[in-house]
Amino acid sequence: MNIAATTSNTRKDSRKDILEFNKLQKRLRHNVGKAIADFNMIDEGDKIMVCLSGGKDSYAMLDILLGMQKTAPIDFEIVAVNMDQKQPNFPEHVLPKYLTSIGVPFHILEKDTYSIVKDLVPEGKTYCSLCSRLRRGSLYGFAQEIGATKIALGHHRDDIVETLFLNLFHGGKLKAMPPKLLSDDKKNILIRPMAYCKENDLQAYSDAKQFPIIPCDLCGSQDGLQRQVIKRMLADWDREHPGRVETIFAAIGNVAPSQLADTGLFDFASLSRDVTDLSTDRIKAISE
Ligand code: SF4
Repeated sequence: MNIAATTSNTRKDSRKDILEFNKLQKRLRHNVGKAIADFNMIDEGDKIMVCLSGGKDSYAMLDILLGMQKTAPIDFEIVAVNMDQKQPNFPEHVLPKYLTSIGVPFHILEKDTYSIVKDLVPEGKTYCSLCSRLRRGSLYGFAQEIGATKIALGHHRDDIVETLFLNLFHGGKLKAMPPKLLSDDKKNILIRPMAYCKENDLQAYSDAKQFPIIPCDLCGSQDGLQRQVIKRMLADWDREHPGRVETIFAAIGNVAPSQLADTGLFDFASLSRDVTDLSTDRIKAISE
């Protein structure tokens, strides 16, 4: 293979990569725009607190929202917030360096939830559930402090479908993770602008953009084993039946309460026959 041919092939490859990346970026922006519109996630004048964990999903969310902010027909503010939970070896310089380099306003909220979790969680149990609960509580409070009107979280379509199965298999509940939510104390509105995005797309986007990823396992804990099992189950299904996860996600937005069995959601007790038509039919039949 001569050098000229190699150079031309390399150029072709990089053109192909650029085209692929542009398609991916367009798809992600389209999906985010659609989720924002479908759930009326952003209003004029909103101050959006974008929560950054240092993982691929939240980096991609910030990047896409910043891109949309430039072209959106409405004005809204973006503030990035990371919570430094004081896990051992947390690389505390990574996010400030990145956020400064892209010129976005940001806060690093320092709270040693790591020690609390270590004290409270019994030996052998995973930290993640309590850790994320404490993180959520601190972030809600901080949103109030900085006057944020919305809190944006980076959960994507696959997180939502996994949560649906976690609740179904282990909680006996038909519930997932909504794209928009009013917190229990009614003080915060949470939005998930990546709700329509596939995890694979976010991984590819993050790889292409080379975000400085901080792994969420610095504390030596592992994410809930059950979630990993469900992740594998969904990946197997999608391999064997491409599009299945897509269909399941569509079902979350296409619920028929009268075809389930939740008496709080549908008034089964008051079901009654419509007798007006019956009697009209009978009268018609007699007169014929
Ligand atoms: S891996 Fe560690 S930091 Fe991440 S949620 Fe679990 S306990 Fe918290």
